[in-house]
Amino acid sequence: MSIIAPAETATETSHFIDGCWTARGGPTFAVRNPLDDSLVAEAAAGGRADAEAAVAAAAAAFPAWAAMPPGERQRLFLKAADIVDAREDEIVRLMAREGGSSRAFAAFQIRLSAAMLRQAAGWGYLPAGDVLRSDVAGRTATVTRKPLGVVAGFTPWNGAFYLAWRTFLLPMAFGNTTVIKPSEEAPLSAGLIHAEILEQAGFPAGSFNVVTHAPGAAAEIADVFFASPAVRCIDFTGSDRTARILGERAGRALKRMVLELGGFNPVLVLDEADIEEAVKAVTFGAFLHQGQVCMNSRKVYIARDRHDEFVAGLRARVEALKVGDPTDPEVIIGPLINDRAVAQIDERVRDAVDRGATLVTGGTHEGRLYRPTILTHVPPEAICTTGCDETFGPLLVIEAFDDVETAIADAQSTPYGLSAAIMTGDRGRGLDIAERFDAGIVHVNAPTMASEAALPVGGVKDSGWGRSGHYAIEDFTEVRLTTVSRDPGRYPF
Ligand code: ADP
Repeated sequence: MSIIAPAETATETSHFIDGCWTARGGPTFAVRNPLDDSLVAEAAAGGRADAEAAVAAAAAAFPAWAAMPPGERQRLFLKAADIVDAREDEIVRLMAREGGSSRAFAAFQIRLSAAMLRQAAGWGYLPAGDVLRSDVAGRTATVTRKPLGVVAGFTPWNGAFYLAWRTFLLPMAFGNTTVIKPSEEAPLSAGLIHAEILEQAGFPAGSFNVVTHAPGAAAEIADVFFASPAVRCIDFTGSDRTARILGERAGRALKRMVLELGGFNPVLVLDEADIEEAVKAVTFGAFLHQGQVCMNSRKVYIARDRHDEFVAGLRARVEALKVGDPTDPEVIIGPLINDRAVAQIDERVRDAVDRGATLVTGGTHEGRLYRPTILTHVPPEAICTTGCDETFGPLLVIEAFDDVETAIADAQSTPYGLSAAIMTGDRGRGLDIAERFDAGIVHVNAPTMASEAALPVGGVKDSGWGRSGHYAIEDFTEVRLTTVSRDPGRYPF
């Protein structure tokens, strides 16, 4: 079957539980195109019973998946990567219709996803542990990494295709089985398409399960995850607001959490930087997927004597970005995901302008198509400059600095610590500053979005816990100590 209807008409989708497409004929909810509200799919509106069945299937599949030799898992991952490549055009169309993704953003995600699958295919061969020295003569101590069990993942709507892979592939590569609950905004591109691909690749039944749900039913499904002893880890990608709710519950249930949350992602453009290069990096970093990615750049700090040149260059490049229907391959800026997102950015741009900010470009919208927007001279009290709450849309604030130390301090004054970028003509200076950034990722001479499948992505502070790449072994395994003693023990009583 394919969840992507050939004639681009609406399709009806089901859950994927224990290797079967279930719940056809049950309650559904409408998944709509954010551009024009046309119907993309009627998706299964799951609840407690579906989540319980999915967790039971994942728990039953766990022993065999955990014990599968690395070469067998490797074959499955490599096959899935080939299927991702082969289905690129379909996936691009799906992401445009369901999530408003431009071809550029969809292709970026597809390349990263296939690369991550190929990377993960080798992780089964990473060392399984260590042999440690013991103070007891004749005792051997070994430490072995073991998978946790079932990992329950909340996958987001924004970088839906890639971030869903990131959510379940990392735990699966280290021997865990998974249940995914995609965002109600994008159940197809944040989970169901993956189920199709894994089914096609021949993954064993129950190793990967997807339960979709209507708006408002997330908490019911989360209840099942928190209540189930089989679920050993909750992997959430989304806002810190929801992460706090889930984190409190994880605390009560004593479950491990991996959190990939928001960011404010400053860019520092130093006085000796190549301005043309900085303009390109910032345009990409700030406006990819119309600013709806956790790693988009939100604020640029530029040396005052290069400010006007930079702003003029950026304005010209940004105004040339085509805004419209993302099924047009030339469109870079598609629609925002929903009316709430449009209202948020609109309110923040107006608030800043009312307080005296200069609107360099943008600030208007047609429906959910919001023009890429640049503000300068934004007063500190404007909502969009505080970084307490990222504006999830195509809004970039630019601030001139006289003293780089003040800019570095200000760039780190937000609660977030995901990604940062430094554009400089002096790599040594860039590295010195990078050392001082409190962020999970710092790029010198690359955009804040410069992701690669093999490199660890993750945040500090309110941006979350956990890392992608093979570093995820820390998040998705636990360490088992085994000792064997040769001699009789010596005991004090
Ligand atoms: P938004 O999509 O509104 O920006 P987030 O990014 O925080 O919100 O993440 C939304 C994800 O969290 C979705 O998958 C949604 O279903 C889920 N979610 C929202 N509220 C809750 C809750 N109280 N309990 C469990 N999951 C929730």
